[in-house]
Amino acid sequence: MSYLRRTIDNVFDTVLTAATTAANPVAGVDAAILWHRIESAAAARKLAFVGEVLARHLNECETPVGTLPGGVDPADAAEAEIAAALGITCSTAGRWMWLGHTLATRLPNLAATFAAGELTEHQVQTIATCTANVDPDFIKEVEAHILSALKGSSARLVGKKLRAVIDAVIIRVDPDGLRARRDAAVLGRHVHVHPATDGMAELAGSLTAEDATFLDRRLDEMAKRVCSDDPRSFSARRADALVALTHGRPDLDCLCGDPACPFTADIAGTPRRPLVHVIAPADTLTGESDAPGWIDGFGFISAEHLRAIAAAADLRALHNPTVSDAVADYFAETPEDRYRPSQSLADWVKAVHGWCAFPGCGQPAWESDLDHRTPRSADGDTASFNLGPFCRKHHNLHTHGGWETEQLIDGTLILTSREGRVYRVPPLGPIPLLSNPVPMRPKRQPRAQGRVNRVRRERKRAHDQNNEPPPF
Ligand SMILES: [Zn+2]
Ligand SMILES: [Zn+2]
Repeated sequence: MSYLRRTIDNVFDTVLTAATTAANPVAGVDAAILWHRIESAAAARKLAFVGEVLARHLNECETPVGTLPGGVDPADAAEAEIAAALGITCSTAGRWMWLGHTLATRLPNLAATFAAGELTEHQVQTIATCTANVDPDFIKEVEAHILSALKGSSARLVGKKLRAVIDAVIIRVDPDGLRARRDAAVLGRHVHVHPATDGMAELAGSLTAEDATFLDRRLDEMAKRVCSDDPRSFSARRADALVALTHGRPDLDCLCGDPACPFTADIAGTPRRPLVHVIAPADTLTGESDAPGWIDGFGFISAEHLRAIAAAADLRALHNPTVSDAVADYFAETPEDRYRPSQSLADWVKAVHGWCAFPGCGQPAWESDLDHRTPRSADGDTASFNLGPFCRKHHNLHTHGGWETEQLIDGTLILTSREGRVYRVPPLGPIPLLSNPVPMRPKRQPRAQGRVNRVRRERKRAHDQNNEPPPF
């Protein structure tokens, strides 16, 4: 580490800062331009090395199967090394790795321009993505035309304008490439739900333009079919309309509260109940505590939010198999005499770990496999101290890909990569995160109540002053 630290200090303080301040002073926008280019030049070099990790894993493959020994996908293995070593999510690692490899193998002249700091990572990513389906026979020509278009424009080409320039080149040089890209885009349609803050989630996806437009119009139409006393904004009604559709309901229920409202009557169908795993402290459910709850794959939610969900949920008690809550008693647990843990044990382990334990992976615990850290075949126990979640991909890397694991009694995982780097991953589920909490503050008074109290205090002060004996 100190070697890395010294190198970085040397580059920034000695070489770059000295060069930009003494002999060649730059400031303001000029300085921002300089650092922006340095950032691009550094990113180009980083991506080249990241791409090399993939190339090395591909070279190690057993031909003609195209997998590493043990049947492991070389891209999964390379992505795991990069995500863990660089401390980034697996999806970012996968994107960087693909970009680095594409620049090296398909777009070397673009890579050189990027390394000279003349293009941003965002531009390079756009070009690599948009040309991904260009036939290898035409890629050199396409690359040359795009580079000359970029050089011919004094303002930077970015975003939709850059995409239009790239498409114009591909249409002329490789029209089949554009068709292939459209086919791949249609095959790659998807909908993603990402956890956001405040107990909310963001929905993103890619649909065909016609389906997306139809959905858009349909949400508008549903959002408009309420009376003028509905308290929600138009945007909020569009969001509720999407939820109503997933419950199989063709119309939105007006929330004006008037039983005679023509938009409230006979909503067909009963809402379906989705399967969502929520961890709820018992005294939050009874209202005695405001400790937060946890939604699998999302993280913490407020006590109020939790109680609202729990009102319509099936509840199942969570049992601590470690006999006592004390960490020191973890080994007092009696292992189960079976390979697949009981549901009770599985629930507990998932609530301790919260996610796939692999660095950079955000797969929810209830969508992961339970991995025996020491395999059953090597006398590993089916017990909480030897079980932890891994998503299917990382479970496979552990079983066949040369990654070794050891789990400490507090659930901390010691992970040794295929290349020998060691990572320490603490359990990050609701149980450990809440058992060692920052002390919870008493609930803040809602603002209106605070104002009422202030008015009361002021009135009392005025009253006391009025009743005080006059100051003689
Ligand atoms: Zn109404
Ligand atoms: Zn994972």
